[in-house]
Amino acid sequence: MKTRDLYKVLGVSKEASQEEIRRAYKRLARKYHPDANRDDAEAEERFKEVQHAYEILSNPEKRRNYDEGPRAYFGGPGTQGGAGGRMGNVSDLSDLFGNFGDIFGGRGGQSQTIRGEDVSTSITLKFRDALEGVTTRISAPVEEVCGPCRGTGAAPGTAPRMCPECSGRGVRGRDQGFFALSEPCGRCGGEGTIVEKPCSRCAGSGRLRKARQVTVKIPAGAKDGMKIRVPGRGSDGRKGGPPGDLLVVTRVEEHPVFKRQGDDFTVDVPVSFVEAALGAEIEVPRPGGGTVKLKLPAGTQDGRRFKVRGAGAPRPRGGGEPGDLVVRARLVVPAKLSRREKEILEALADERNEDVREDLLRASREAEQR
Ligand SMILES: [Zn+2]
Ligand SMILES: [Zn+2]
Repeated sequence: MKTRDLYKVLGVSKEASQEEIRRAYKRLARKYHPDANRDDAEAEERFKEVQHAYEILSNPEKRRNYDEGPRAYFGGPGTQGGAGGRMGNVSDLSDLFGNFGDIFGGRGGQSQTIRGEDVSTSITLKFRDALEGVTTRISAPVEEVCGPCRGTGAAPGTAPRMCPECSGRGVRGRDQGFFALSEPCGRCGGEGTIVEKPCSRCAGSGRLRKARQVTVKIPAGAKDGMKIRVPGRGSDGRKGGPPGDLLVVTRVEEHPVFKRQGDDFTVDVPVSFVEAALGAEIEVPRPGGGTVKLKLPAGTQDGRRFKVRGAGAPRPRGGGEPGDLVVRARLVVPAKLSRREKEILEALADERNEDVREDLLRASREAEQR
């Protein structure tokens, strides 16, 4: 009996929304429609398959039955010699009967492996560690397979035994007709086995919560809120499934001086009135320690920004040019003046004899008159 996964027929994932299913159907139905593919047997076959898949997957109840049941649940149309294609006719029934064998002969859903959960945790980094990168150990709250019972949930020395209610099938309703088949067994919860004497360590769950110590490499230039994935270090899988991943979210401590913007840092640097007016070479601090020299041009205004190329953070992924240091000049006015300084400044004022608000007042007057 040849059957195809209905999700594959529509080219959607098992988690696809109803809207995604509808869109996939419309696209494929148009592509394989007999009107557009005259005398093309293969297209006709595909068209029937697509229609059939949509019929099941667009109906929430049928979809659930299909998801829960074995893959061959309703089979595919046209796979029994091309005469079929609609549910409820004879060729589909042969599919259904084929499945009775599958279910009763098999072990229900219990043989499926399940991947462990991804686990998230956060790490707070010192400014310098984030900048330079660091390898560190963190404690991650994961679920592990219980050691004493090896995940079975049965006390050491005992083993889970076959569920008497469903004879290990995990589903019940052999004599309740076909549609009851996908109902999980109430006694064993669909597992097919029951534990009579639970493991005392895990209380029968087969799992233990644990703070796992994991080594994490923080790349140089790590940003606040960055997610670092450590493959396979999340919770253990179930029924032999692979483990999940560990996701480490970075929190970077604030620096009293530098503020981060992307890969750049900004720093406010006080500049005296004289330096700003005459120009000067000044020393500014740089992230990660040390200083860097910066040339201020004569006539530097308050708030003007200067870029020091490459003095920012390294790019944490893929390398490339590091960020820049953005220096913002903050003009400092003397709070107190000596008698002589006062005289000098008064002489300067006389010399300049300027009205710095002239332009502002004119612009304001003109705006009023408009
Ligand atoms: Zn245990
Ligand atoms: Zn059972």
